[in-house]
Amino acid sequence: MSRTGQNGAQGGGTAALVLFSGGQDSTACLAWALDRYDRVETVGFDYGQRHAAELKAREAVRARIAETFPEWAKRLGRDETVDLKGYGAISETALTRETRIEIGESGLPTTFVPGRNIMFLTAAAALGWRRGVQTLVAGMCETDFSGYPDCRADTIAATAKALSLGLDREILIETPLMYLTKAQTWALAQELGGDELVRITVEDSHTCYLGERHPHPWGAGCGRCPACHLRAKGWQEWRAETASGAGA
Ligand code: ZN
Repeated sequence: MSRTGQNGAQGGGTAALVLFSGGQDSTACLAWALDRYDRVETVGFDYGQRHAAELKAREAVRARIAETFPEWAKRLGRDETVDLKGYGAISETALTRETRIEIGESGLPTTFVPGRNIMFLTAAAALGWRRGVQTLVAGMCETDFSGYPDCRADTIAATAKALSLGLDREILIETPLMYLTKAQTWALAQELGGDELVRITVEDSHTCYLGERHPHPWGAGCGRCPACHLRAKGWQEWRAETASGAGA
């Protein structure tokens, strides 16, 4: 677990705003926040992703979590989708237009959207300002990820500092997955919400870059894109650890 922001104090308030895309990581983050804060709101961003599957998954995951976990349902607050299509138009990557997903000339995957997480955190902080929420929870992770520079703990810490200065109030950015592997993210879901949360993650969350929803043991997806690969690999590692008792 990591905590970034200007100080290392516990979330402070009893409210948090989760950057919630409807994927595996942000589903784990939502559960993590529901376990800790009295009020948890969610925000999603529509930046012209090629597929709407992700945005649909948000509603499905939220609804099923509320239905399955009554204690969490009481804490789960509003959801908002912020329209950032103008930003998607500036960034023009494989996630927002029909481009092959591969490693580009810059050495970064073509799915890299420049500045995306900084933009999302800034928009979330602005929304939090309106709602009186200063703690943001986000699923950035620098472990076994695709090398996105804006997922690094340093980037997040610097963003928290810039936002705290620029908004003149302390903005805390919690990134519970920062140092977890994908296998450990499955284990975290299990720890927080048992088999039911694992089932919700498998059946309702969406990670596939291509927006496909073919059923697999680890969830719905194309099974071939980098996001599906990462998710499947994490699932298999976690299952293997669980089977051997190492994860117990
Ligand atoms: Zn896929």
